[in-house]
Amino acid sequence: MKLIIIGAGPGGYETAVEAARRGIEVVLISDGPLGGTCLNEGCIPTKTLLHAAEQLPEGETPADAALATAQKHKRAVVEQLRGGIALLLGNKLITLVEGHASFAGPHCVTVPGPEGERRFEGDAILVAVGSVSASLPIPGADLPGVLSSREILELERVPRSLCIIGGGVIGLEFASLYRSFGAEVTVLEYAPSLLPRFDTDLSKRLRQALVRRGIAVETSARVEAIDGGDAFSVRFSDKSCAERSVAAECVLMAVGRRAALSSLNFEAIGIECSPRGVVVDDNFETSVPGVYAVGDVTGRMMLAHEASAQGLRALNHICLCADGGSGVPDDGLDFSIIPAAVFTTPELACVGLSEEDCKASGQEFRALKAFYRANGKAMSMDAGDGYCKVLADPVSGRILGAHILGAHASDLIHEAAALMQFGVDAKRAGSLIHAHPTLSEVLQAALRSF
Ligand code: NAD
Repeated sequence: MKLIIIGAGPGGYETAVEAARRGIEVVLISDGPLGGTCLNEGCIPTKTLLHAAEQLPEGETPADAALATAQKHKRAVVEQLRGGIALLLGNKLITLVEGHASFAGPHCVTVPGPEGERRFEGDAILVAVGSVSASLPIPGADLPGVLSSREILELERVPRSLCIIGGGVIGLEFASLYRSFGAEVTVLEYAPSLLPRFDTDLSKRLRQALVRRGIAVETSARVEAIDGGDAFSVRFSDKSCAERSVAAECVLMAVGRRAALSSLNFEAIGIECSPRGVVVDDNFETSVPGVYAVGDVTGRMMLAHEASAQGLRALNHICLCADGGSGVPDDGLDFSIIPAAVFTTPELACVGLSEEDCKASGQEFRALKAFYRANGKAMSMDAGDGYCKVLADPVSGRILGAHILGAHASDLIHEAAALMQFGVDAKRAGSLIHAHPTLSEVLQAALRSF
């Protein structure tokens, strides 16, 4: 069997490695560097800079030297990890092709090259081409110096003032990061609360924590124009419809990402797309049998780990069909239980339903709460500003969702995800003995209150 994979981000390269491990011949085509957005201009560079920022004393003057050092370290980390991926792809069953692929038929893609067009045919094709930054159709949005998340990752000097348009995941991670490096930061968010897709209780608490750190936040802010000059002036109308502006040396546009749908020639073979992305079923198969799409290009939650898991499901389905089977593979992957983390200071992490989700679907719930300030390890780390909330069915105790704001939330959330995945209810979960003193006792305390 031969599998063609387009895109070498986590959705593409991890599927390629696993397919080769199963004895499948793979052609992996990419027009960008190995690792995709996650490794080259997303998760890994951001977290490397964030780690450096967190070592600095809070609220000091702009730490230009520290940023320059962190940038050097970031480049080394990215290069090393890219080398690691190249090693993983060194399997003799994998052929790596550099270039831009587009569909020439349901089982065929072409890639232009210096020696003419190359054609590749496969039994199945997996599209994992990711997403691109979105912008706003407002005057000044394309002024030089209005930065995307890729560009702001490359700054060698801390901007004295930074205005961030969009209080979603990317906006808040950079707000937190550059505040730690000493910039004056303002976030303008269109929705009434930050992180509109997260549990409002937690996003409100995160807002308070960011404001305490000196980040200015405006919600219900409609950005109307960006004026250039010696410094930018970002004009917006606030929640009382008053016209206001923020002056800033740098502006970051962080109003979302959109699926990279153009230039693959989807229409030529009739792959159905919605305005959000490629339409797929539970196996991540598109409207064209044998053609799959995973990750950001589907326009679902844009998370690296979700893309990898989707790639695995698609591969499992390809293998099932090759063995004469059909339906959804019995692979244990549960796409309703996907942890998500926002790497602000403090961190926010969640899995499953929010209070708003429960209310919208009529699901009864009990909110089980615990605070970091009652946890010995948190206090010893000077990290008493934190909160954990587990939502459980009031009768059965089934865990519906978990939300953590505080130090190491992104690590702690996986215990809640495991409990949900394996169907352990809140009462039984509370009896699990946790080591003392650890932050994991915060989750235990919440569960024990059932
Ligand atoms: P997002 O959808 O999380 O946030 C965009 C924000 O911009 C929203 O809050 C939205 O209300 C706001 N917005 C939209 N129009 C606006 C306007 N005119 N004025 C002001 N605000 C406006 O998108 P993002 O932060 O750009 O991130 C893109 C994707 O990448 C998301 O799916 C995110 O989950 C993913 N991502 C994940 C991580 C992580 O897992 N830690 C990190 C970075 C990005």
